[in-house]
Amino acid sequence: MSSVNTAIQLITREQAEKGATAKGSTCSPALAKGPWDYDLAEALAGVPAYGPGASSADVAPAATPRQGQLPEEYKLASDAELGERILAAKAALGDRAVILGHFYQRDEVIQYADFVGDSFQLANAALTRPDAEAIVFCGVHFMAETADILSAPEQAVILPNLAAGCSMADMADADSVAECWEQLEELYGTEPDAEGRVPVLPVTYMNSSAALKAFCGEHGGIVCTSSNARTVLEWAFQRAQRVLFFPDQHLGRNTAKALGVPLEQMPMWNPRKDLGGNDEQALLDSRVILWHGFCSVHKRFSVAQIEKARADFPGVQVIVHPECPMEVVDAADSAGSTDFIKKAIAAATEPTTFAIGTEINMVNRLAAEYPQHTIFCLDPVICPCSTMYRIHPGYLAWVLEELVAGRVVNRITVADSVQDNARTALERMLAARP
Ligand code: SF4
Repeated sequence: MSSVNTAIQLITREQAEKGATAKGSTCSPALAKGPWDYDLAEALAGVPAYGPGASSADVAPAATPRQGQLPEEYKLASDAELGERILAAKAALGDRAVILGHFYQRDEVIQYADFVGDSFQLANAALTRPDAEAIVFCGVHFMAETADILSAPEQAVILPNLAAGCSMADMADADSVAECWEQLEELYGTEPDAEGRVPVLPVTYMNSSAALKAFCGEHGGIVCTSSNARTVLEWAFQRAQRVLFFPDQHLGRNTAKALGVPLEQMPMWNPRKDLGGNDEQALLDSRVILWHGFCSVHKRFSVAQIEKARADFPGVQVIVHPECPMEVVDAADSAGSTDFIKKAIAAATEPTTFAIGTEINMVNRLAAEYPQHTIFCLDPVICPCSTMYRIHPGYLAWVLEELVAGRVVNRITVADSVQDNARTALERMLAARP
């Protein structure tokens, strides 16, 4: 199976030559260009953006990191030349550098990764290489921050393209969450109830800035991943009457619903409105207050796509990620993290048809890895995660060759004051038990 990027190149070329008769479709023909075009466009416009792909319509906050211009030689190099340079730099660096690749990263980059996994698996994988001076994280900004928090101070965590952020993580910023917290404390007070449970406790999804993880650490709260969200919510309910869950409303809603929390006790907090757009009674009756955030990749999946997959492939197994909307999770056969999806496919002993609701790069890789099964993405339109896509082999070659030359570029550093509290929230997560 060709890579997502190769498929996009083909579709774009066919569309240019034959118009609407092209096989397959992509959400943006601009995906066929080098990501450096977007670095430049943003520099010229003076405003950051997420680039083409699933998050292209999301508004990037003004403070979103931007990538300077990639040296011309890396833009002009062919894939084969970049491959040779990456491998030569890797060989020269040896154990001094470790390359991490997220499941959603493009194949052209993943092929050079020492470890492939989800964000937390990768941060832990880096811990197995304490001698590495550099951890090159081919993922997005919050993942590199987590790796910096968990790694040794002398290890440099490098994000090959600084514009590789996460639109969902950006939907909850530290100031808005602090303002929300102030309003909630004013409404609820801070006194625990007769069972010793505080009025509200913050829970942040791993897909959030280090500042928000630190906020949770400082306020008795905790971090969760899509694998352990249920355990973490149970942990929180033992200690609090209700939870403020950010930034992903869908993971929060899907997890709390599975725990039996009624939808009417899950008001949404819109940071642009007073009391998040709720009346006091709704907040007093709440069990989970959901931040108004979402992943634009997983928001694309729909019940109609599931119905079509069931009509086209009777007996199909539909597995979706819990960042998908609730109706989609309800209509699927099962829902779980990327690790859950991988394990479910690996466990199938008979040839099976799977329709998967998660990022296309991971789905295509699973299809290639398990040829005995028929595996396809629920969304027929090729629309990768915009920000993962900002990392191209050209940027990887550049950061590695800079390391060989003794220069560290694109280092992601989390301030010590933030690190301590963020680590506290991460450690609570690791200690939480079902
Ligand atoms: S897939 Fe969604 S949550 Fe993951 S990095 Fe991309 S935008 Fe963020």
